[in-house]
Amino acid sequence: MKNIVILGAGTGGTMMANKLRRELDRGEWNITVIDRNNQHVYQPGLLFVPFQMLKPSEIVKSRTEFLPTGVDFVIDEIARIDTAANTVHTVGKKKFPYDVLVIATGCRLAPEEIPGMVEGMQNNVHDFYTIEGAKRLSKAMDHFEGGKIVMHISEMPFKCPVAPIEFVFLADWYFQERGIRDKVEIEFVTPLGGMFTKPVATRVFSSAAEEKGINITTDFAITDVLTESNEIESADGKRVKYDLLVTIPPNMGSQFLFDSGVTDELCWMNTDKHKLKAVNHDNIYVLGDATNVPTSKAGSVTHFESEILCENILAEIEGKSANADFDGHSNCFIESGFKKAYLIDFNYEQEPLIGKFPLPAVGPFDLLGDTEINHMGKLMFKWTYWNVLLKGTEIPVVGPGMSMLGKKAI
Ligand SMILES: Cc1cc2nc3c(=O)[nH]c(=O)nc-3n(C[C@H](O)[C@H](O)[C@H](O)COP(=O)(O)OP(=O)(O)OC[C@H]3O[C@@H](n4cnc5c(N)ncnc54)[C@H](O)[C@@H]3O)c2cc1C
Repeated sequence: MKNIVILGAGTGGTMMANKLRRELDRGEWNITVIDRNNQHVYQPGLLFVPFQMLKPSEIVKSRTEFLPTGVDFVIDEIARIDTAANTVHTVGKKKFPYDVLVIATGCRLAPEEIPGMVEGMQNNVHDFYTIEGAKRLSKAMDHFEGGKIVMHISEMPFKCPVAPIEFVFLADWYFQERGIRDKVEIEFVTPLGGMFTKPVATRVFSSAAEEKGINITTDFAITDVLTESNEIESADGKRVKYDLLVTIPPNMGSQFLFDSGVTDELCWMNTDKHKLKAVNHDNIYVLGDATNVPTSKAGSVTHFESEILCENILAEIEGKSANADFDGHSNCFIESGFKKAYLIDFNYEQEPLIGKFPLPAVGPFDLLGDTEINHMGKLMFKWTYWNVLLKGTEIPVVGPGMSMLGKKAI
């Protein structure tokens, strides 16, 4: 019997377990999935909790609901990979030898990296990247009667780089709905030179922010959260005042990967950006937020990567070469408030374009357009995630590579 061990039962690990279990002979291949708990969070739903658009109970389910039969699911904290002995060790002192290892351990939040951030989180500093954070922020938003809200990004890279943009657009809508928008100042503070990593999309989002009366502060490399004065401070001495700070704390990969000697200094897996293999480790494959590949850390990316990885792992198991290459394809809906959303589609080489998605000329979604149908797509995504994507089912007409059909630059 040979062993495939999958680390992480989030988006990527669950998709891979389903795809590989369907394809591989049960008498020949054992599949083990390890995660620290049995709670699968639909993370895109975290954005909606602070605006009372979704309840926390609607976005958390048991992991076992989505893992296939014929897979061993182990709940334990992963402690270390011994790459020389092809063995995974857990904190619970279990050992899992592997022939093939798939790493899908995502991101961890590291607020402790910024002095004052953890302390501020006892008071008026918030995040919405965890269930607890999103719940606490929901209460704070509900009680907010006026003042300055700052949406702040600590550093790059972080998962779902459009989420803070969506947060400020939804905040503008939310306070208009509550009839107090004139009492609320909204500021977006980023270490980047603009709202997003891609110049074309940045132009579109910045002009929307201007129309919505949202201020943008760029090139802000945070050093401290000054909880006494309610300010954040940057390396070059700039200060931004807040009444309510919503922050994206530093995101890092798993510490155990760093301790196992397979990552860069921020604990991201050193990964071949086309083959999605761990650099210098022929039997270790990586997908999702854990990689250091230069595209967005997003569920859509994780989904496209799972298709490439599954094809390549099956080929290599059969002694053939891994021919599928990942192109960095990313596809994200961006909520803009008032039941509308944008959609962007890009890859390693290609900036977001205008056109229709997924079918050229037909759509129904509008690339770089701010439309109601895109908002419907974002809402529908929850159902698609639980019922189609996690089960590793391929979506007709949406392949892993970016299609250029019917699209053009603006
Ligand atoms: C607020 C928010 C909004 C988002 N919106 C979107 C969106 O609209 N569209 C989109 O495409 N993406 C979105 N994303 C991003 C998307 O959710 C992630 O990119 C995706 O879930 C990554 O999948 P993953 O498998 O790499 O990591 P995850 O799904 O996070 O899974 C990692 C798993 O590894 C486990 N793990 C880690 N370390 C250990 C350890 N040492 N021991 C045991 N288990 C461990 C964790 O418990 C976790 O279950 C959003 C994310 C957030 C936070």
